[in-house]
Amino acid sequence: MAKRDVYDIVDQKYDKKIKREQLIVDAERFKTYDEVFDQQNLDNIFRLMKRKKVKTLECPISTGKEANVYLARTFEEDAAVKIFRTSTSTFGAFLEYIEGDRRFQRIDRSHRGVIYTWARKEFMNLEAMHEEGIRVPAPRSLFRNILVMDYIEYGGKPAPQIRVLDADKDEWVEMWGVVLDTVEKLFLECELVHADLSEYNILYDGAPVFIDVGQSLDLSHPRALDMLDRDLGIISTFFEKKGIKEAKNEAESLKVELLATLEEDEE
Ligand code: ADP
Ligand code: MN
Repeated sequence: MAKRDVYDIVDQKYDKKIKREQLIVDAERFKTYDEVFDQQNLDNIFRLMKRKKVKTLECPISTGKEANVYLARTFEEDAAVKIFRTSTSTFGAFLEYIEGDRRFQRIDRSHRGVIYTWARKEFMNLEAMHEEGIRVPAPRSLFRNILVMDYIEYGGKPAPQIRVLDADKDEWVEMWGVVLDTVEKLFLECELVHADLSEYNILYDGAPVFIDVGQSLDLSHPRALDMLDRDLGIISTFFEKKGIKEAKNEAESLKVELLATLEEDEE
């Protein structure tokens, strides 16, 4: 796409950081490994290997607060493996998104149970979206807190988040159009709201790919419309900064249009 390879930009950023924080980074990395690869998780990964869903886990693509994502070799195409932390402390927030969703009425409320349900929720959301032709990583398998999905790649590397893209105006306009269409399709055809939409959760592999849909809500959830409003606000702010002056207005029109379809349904 862009005139400059997006990875030049990404590399520059990391270079600066690495020089300054080399030692800390290494210590941190060890901590993360210890935390994620406890006996239980090793067993869980082994189970996916025995089921021939994963061959080897390669490098980490991302280490986040709630989950780590790894590149994995499989017997088919490479996969991305998202391992939800079972030691996460933000678990209270998870329940809020699960309860109120008609798909999850009876759940195991133990700590592990909630994390497993969360992973299952992301899997089911990906499945629903993928079935409707929305560009998300296709889900492949799930075991407890480990989700295996298609690996999204661009230029031989993990696809970048749109926030680091060096695109020109026309390319941003095109991406904005796709993002609006995707939000619309999610709502009308999947009856879902992303609920954490931002420039961090849209990857680019030649076109936008929505990711990170664990918190995505069914329209039956009482907070669904608040979340739609928030999603559109956040993402239109980003595109406005990229030079699309009409972004806010267009997001607002889409919201009005989507809300109107709900009222029609009630009549
Ligand atoms: P969280 O934000 O909760 O840590 P995400 O699902 O957003 O989890 O994943 C974190 C990062 O991992 C993403 O921003 C993206 O860079 C990378 N990633 C996630 N899923 C994939 C995938 N299927 N293919 C390639 N990279 C991915
Ligand atoms: Mn994310």
